[in-house]
Amino acid sequence: MKKQTRLNRISEEKRATTLLVKKLGKKVHLDDKARFAVSFDGSKLSFIPLAVIRPRSEQDIEVVLDLANKRSIPVTVRGGGSSLTGSASPVRGGWVLDLSRWRKIEMDEEQGLMKVQAGARIIDIQKRAEEAGWYYPPDPSSKEHSTIGGNIACNAGGMHGGKYGVTRDYILALQGLLPTGERVSWGGHYKKFACGYNLRDLWIGSEGTLGVVTGAILKLIPKPQTKWTVLTVYLNEEKALLAVRELLNERIQPSILEFLDNSSVRCAERATGVSFFPKQRGKPLLLVEIDGSRGQVKMDKVRVLDWVKKFSLAYQEARTEAEAEKLWQVRRKCSGAMFEMGDSKLNEDVVIPLRKQVDFYRFIEKLQVQSGLSTPTFGHAADGNFHVNIMYSRENASEVRRAKRAVFQLMKKVVALGGTITGEHGIGLAKTPFLHLARNKAEIKAMKVIKTALDPKGILNPGKIFDRFEVWKHKPVKVRLPWDHH
Ligand SMILES: Cc1cc2nc3c(=O)[nH]c(=O)nc-3n(C[C@H](O)[C@H](O)[C@H](O)COP(=O)(O)OP(=O)(O)OC[C@H]3O[C@@H](n4cnc5c(N)ncnc54)[C@H](O)[C@@H]3O)c2cc1C
Repeated sequence: MKKQTRLNRISEEKRATTLLVKKLGKKVHLDDKARFAVSFDGSKLSFIPLAVIRPRSEQDIEVVLDLANKRSIPVTVRGGGSSLTGSASPVRGGWVLDLSRWRKIEMDEEQGLMKVQAGARIIDIQKRAEEAGWYYPPDPSSKEHSTIGGNIACNAGGMHGGKYGVTRDYILALQGLLPTGERVSWGGHYKKFACGYNLRDLWIGSEGTLGVVTGAILKLIPKPQTKWTVLTVYLNEEKALLAVRELLNERIQPSILEFLDNSSVRCAERATGVSFFPKQRGKPLLLVEIDGSRGQVKMDKVRVLDWVKKFSLAYQEARTEAEAEKLWQVRRKCSGAMFEMGDSKLNEDVVIPLRKQVDFYRFIEKLQVQSGLSTPTFGHAADGNFHVNIMYSRENASEVRRAKRAVFQLMKKVVALGGTITGEHGIGLAKTPFLHLARNKAEIKAMKVIKTALDPKGILNPGKIFDRFEVWKHKPVKVRLPWDHH
């Protein structure tokens, strides 16, 4: 943009912000602290917006979108700010619409439905459901921080994906506003509909680019009566991943099946100071949980133990909740210790078809050797959603170059294996350089046509999904987030 045009743009945006303050008063925050706090998400890529708006009603949001369209002001909607891709970072400045205080939850115990506002936290939704004997299965590790609005926008997953699916599978209806400011609802307080185009599903996973979600109706399932956990150790990753195939081939559906490679296990051992299998220190693990009725779990337990004895070197089962929690430490603690391997992380969440998991891991081993970087890998083996962490030091130009090369090689390989570049985090900013690997020209064009049709002025979360952004060229802000490890 030429300098004069840029200056004109800046003064236009300032005038629009002054007008917004006149219309919404104290709901608009202009102070540095408030603007900085919403300038980044879990990616720590920071872009300071002009204003933060904390609306109290849909009418307030209408005002924001109406003015934003008239004056071409970018608007980024925000929930818990825990996105790992920069999808909530307001890369084009403008206004941030903060819905994190819209936390109301209403339970319909009789029908197993729940009406929630967009800012309701996942942990509160799960608790309310379970108090009534119902269950909301999507279980992102960020559940204490992330909101249902953000989970819908990213189609968040988590550890229960293999058995129970992802956020999309529990959304009956959505309420909100189109980017142009009109109010809409896709679905209602009923269990099915076939009423024209299904724009509900188009909004899910659209990363806040096609509409503002203000509320949702969630579909719950009966709470499983009981669960059982076992931690198992393997000679190498190939044996662990072959064991995954064997288990699923037995038609057993674990509620959780987490894989940790040797590098992730060593991180967890350093972080906890504990080795669950002292004789097999640093060897790959599978953490398995089964749930269901008491009878079903009792039967599955016998079959899982047969499988464990056949394929693993050793195992530890949890006899109590406290013992299960201890086993869980290995999974919970592995991420934090990774930063001993480099101050920066390219955190990818690729998806690999079951039959290709062993080939995939062989590639990860090669990538580690070729790049000379650590690439601890763990993830949800039942649905093939693996988290590959390419660790590098930002101040080391050679490591930055190698990390960039490694991530491109990774993405190309994933697609060549018939998988895809992200299973739950979305594209945001961080994965924009790889979108063309996973989607062809016609597919990207169709997506852009939809975006233009619903958001002709391009005001809602601009710069995301389609515009190339290279994270390794941007310095993250130095802040400690609530989920950062010490
Ligand atoms: C420690 C940690 C663990 C994580 N574990 C998981 C995991 O297991 N599984 C997983 O899937 N993800 C995980 N994530 C990523 C992240 O939590 C998810 O992407 C989550 O869905 C983001 O929700 P949020 O409320 O924080 O949204 P934000 O970060 O605020 O926003 C994310 C996106 O949603 C849009 N958005 C937010 N609210 C709305 C709304 N009301 N209407 C329209 N658009 C909206 C934003 O514009 C942005 O594009 C993890 C993150 C962290 C930090």
